[in-house]
Amino acid sequence: MNKILLKGLVATAVVSALTACGSDNNDDNKYISQACADAGDACTIFTVIHTNDNHGRFWANKDGEYGMAARKTAIDNIRDEVERAGGDTILLSGGDINTGVPESDMQDAVPDFIGMSMLGYDAMAVGNHEFDNPLTVLDMQANIAQFPMLAANIYKKDLNGDPTQERYFEPYRVFEINGLKVAIIGFTTVDTPKVVSPDNVASLHFTDPQEEIQKVLTEIETNETVDMVFALTHMGHYANGEHGTEAPGDVKLAESVAKGKLQAIIGGHSQNPVCMEGDGYADFNPGDECKPDEKNGTFIMQAHEWGKYVGRADFEYIDGQLSLSSYKLIPINLKEENENEELVFITEEIEQDQLVLDALQHYQDLGQELLDVAISSTDGKLEGDRGVVRAEQTNLGQLLTRAYADWVTANFEPTVDFGVMNSGGIRDSIAEGTISYRDVLTVQPFANDVAFVTMTGTEVQDYLANVALKTGGGMPQLYPMEMNVTCDAIEINPDATSADIVQIASLGGRDFNLADNYTFSLINFSAKGGDDYPVVTAHANYIDTQRSDASVLREYFEKNPNIKVAEYAPANGGHPKFFRGGSEVKSCAK
Ligand SMILES: [Zn+2]
Repeated sequence: MNKILLKGLVATAVVSALTACGSDNNDDNKYISQACADAGDACTIFTVIHTNDNHGRFWANKDGEYGMAARKTAIDNIRDEVERAGGDTILLSGGDINTGVPESDMQDAVPDFIGMSMLGYDAMAVGNHEFDNPLTVLDMQANIAQFPMLAANIYKKDLNGDPTQERYFEPYRVFEINGLKVAIIGFTTVDTPKVVSPDNVASLHFTDPQEEIQKVLTEIETNETVDMVFALTHMGHYANGEHGTEAPGDVKLAESVAKGKLQAIIGGHSQNPVCMEGDGYADFNPGDECKPDEKNGTFIMQAHEWGKYVGRADFEYIDGQLSLSSYKLIPINLKEENENEELVFITEEIEQDQLVLDALQHYQDLGQELLDVAISSTDGKLEGDRGVVRAEQTNLGQLLTRAYADWVTANFEPTVDFGVMNSGGIRDSIAEGTISYRDVLTVQPFANDVAFVTMTGTEVQDYLANVALKTGGGMPQLYPMEMNVTCDAIEINPDATSADIVQIASLGGRDFNLADNYTFSLINFSAKGGDDYPVVTAHANYIDTQRSDASVLREYFEKNPNIKVAEYAPANGGHPKFFRGGSEVKSCAK
């Protein structure tokens, strides 16, 4: 749609909206229900526009999908349309603005907060990734943001480390939307302290949102006069509230309050399009209809991730009753392959807003320059060539496992004993000479998370017996450990046990005992069963740190500016020995 034409229509459209609240022949009013039309002045319409889990996506991807400039146009189009129909809009984010794209990460998400301010966000929930940097960085971001960061369940600690009654962020804010007063309360997942570096949240105390909301509702009842209460959350949506090992999410929050106290939850964190079919999720594709969740009289919405969609919720308010007349997830220049394998827009192309584009271009260019800045150097080749890394232990394989293990040890409890890395996740070598972040991203391009798990010796033995036999992309890079692997144990005896396959002497310098506990690091791709690894995500002691492998590797290189390849030679510091037919081989790959 032509934006200038829309602007020109505003004046006349407002007049027609005033007189034609019941008119069905006005296309713009299609989303207004008959009940609202019949109610006339007693019906107030307003629209919530929402996104979540931006994760550094201020710029369109290489295929021209999403990005804040196109998002701005889509949002402005909604604003124009709603205004012409006599409504008003509010723009909300479910948090996790930070972390995910190098160009943003290297600039502390400054471009993202500038972009959000230009788009006119009214409020955001504080996400767990907002704590990926020290609080000083988050404070800086809050200063740039021309909208509040809301979190009712984050309190300051005193100098003794005890929780105080003072919150770190604004708990809620009351917005007037088309004459209605709406209190919007922020909540952050209580998993946050588990998945960020403890230093970054050492001075903060997170409380249970289900308890905190009772407190905030009382505060609102005491101090404000509002027509309704919404929550803006970063807690995740899990169908029927089945949250597994994650902290309880939006459904549990909705169920925790008396019916009628909380009208809607605009969420984030689980990064799914919350489109329901029956009790479960619909098989949603871009452009499809989307029915948000509704639990205990509370609407629950989430718009997938990265600004791929803009959520549009058209509400009607009659006699104290809120209803949803229409809901859409609007794809932002998402593409699909046509029959000729060309990428084409799924829905009509959305023009990029020129002002936003111009403002953000500067940061995109700067990000590109920063990618090529040397962060470290190596005195020899770090071997990641596909044919080699999938067939034997290499210095790069050892470096990656050590980098992730050391980082987990430095930032979390407990100490990591060893690391596992599926060689299929190592995508390139690093040549002798300087190392830039761009090099890091060619080696680890998938933005998998670094994860870790603590297991008993018996469980570890089973795990290693499984992965040690893997070939191809599953061939494990393992470090440091003294372990013999009998590759043909199962061929010799189909009933071979884990102890027949692997004989572990020590892990990370600690003698191996079946009854002891050991912690190892891995990437969440293999933890989820990628490359046919055993799934460990359901293990009670599994933690996904939600930090990307590439950003951790970058940090490792920055801390080790002169890499000496000899220190990462596979024979250095213990590594598994593989045997077939009694003689030593490089791996179980044939
Ligand atoms: Zn999150």
